[in-house]
Amino acid sequence: IQGTVLKREKVLLQTRLAQAIAARELQVFYQPVVDARSGRIVGLEALARWHDDLEGWVPPDVFIPLAEHLGLIHDLGEQVFDHALERLKAWRREGNSVTAAVNLSRVQLFAPNFQERLLDKLKSYGLRPQDLVLEITESVALLDVSYESKRLHELAAAGFSLAIDDFGTGYSGLAQLHAMPIDTLKVDASFTARLNTEDGRRIVQAIVQMAHALKLETIVEGVEDEDDARYLISLGVTQIQGHHFGEPMPAGVIDMLLAKQAAQMA
Ligand code: C2E
Ligand code: MG
Ligand code: MG
Repeated sequence: IQGTVLKREKVLLQTRLAQAIAARELQVFYQPVVDARSGRIVGLEALARWHDDLEGWVPPDVFIPLAEHLGLIHDLGEQVFDHALERLKAWRREGNSVTAAVNLSRVQLFAPNFQERLLDKLKSYGLRPQDLVLEITESVALLDVSYESKRLHELAAAGFSLAIDDFGTGYSGLAQLHAMPIDTLKVDASFTARLNTEDGRRIVQAIVQMAHALKLETIVEGVEDEDDARYLISLGVTQIQGHHFGEPMPAGVIDMLLAKQAAQMA
């Protein structure tokens, strides 16, 4: 009986998600990516948010897979791009050079015409591929290598900046990483969470050294305190993301932070 109830609840949640996407009710929050030394905001990662009347805030780890399953990830992804590009256009207008990072799911990456549609969209906002970072999780990026698809190479050739998200949770080998047209590794927060142990510190150090050897930027995610930040800086990490520097926030709050930062630099 419990299984049936769960199943019915899941169907109802799916229905409400479909309605929310159709009504364009999903929100997008932005989390600062900061320069490790100066603390200056250099990028903003767009993170989808869904507030359901019955469930409250439903985490993306729940609704993104649901949207994929329902075939609605294209709509959802399109809305996230629209939101992010609209904001980015406004930040550019203010003279700010921050980039915006958008997460891509597997289905989006491998959809026909994905690149053409994104390029058209960028043009309609008066932005360039160089303004965007596309985040692709390690496991999805590996599919591109193993199926000899040229998706990532096409995107890189068009000028997009590519970042491997959740790095360290997949199984890419050095040769594969080297062959990927990527600029950045985003070290998964599960590694940051273990920086309080000697083993944890050694693993992060090894990842950062490998990234340097491959001439890749590293962004370490999930940085929650000053000690971790200081240790990462000592390793030569250039960019950091995490609650210590800023949680994902509504666009209006980011607008204020960017304005404050611009005033301080003037
Ligand atoms: P992600 O891209 O790796 O995003 C980073 C996640 O870490 C975010 O979770 C963020 O809120 C969380 N985080 C940030 N700072 C800290 C910290 O200091 N400590 C800890 N413990 N966590 C921190 P969120 O927003 O729940 O998103 C989860 C995942 O859902 C994302 O992981 C991403 O893979 C996916 N996602 C979110 N929005 C989208 C979207 O628009 N499209 C797609 N395809 N996936 C998305
Ligand atoms: Mg991400
Ligand atoms: Mg991640």
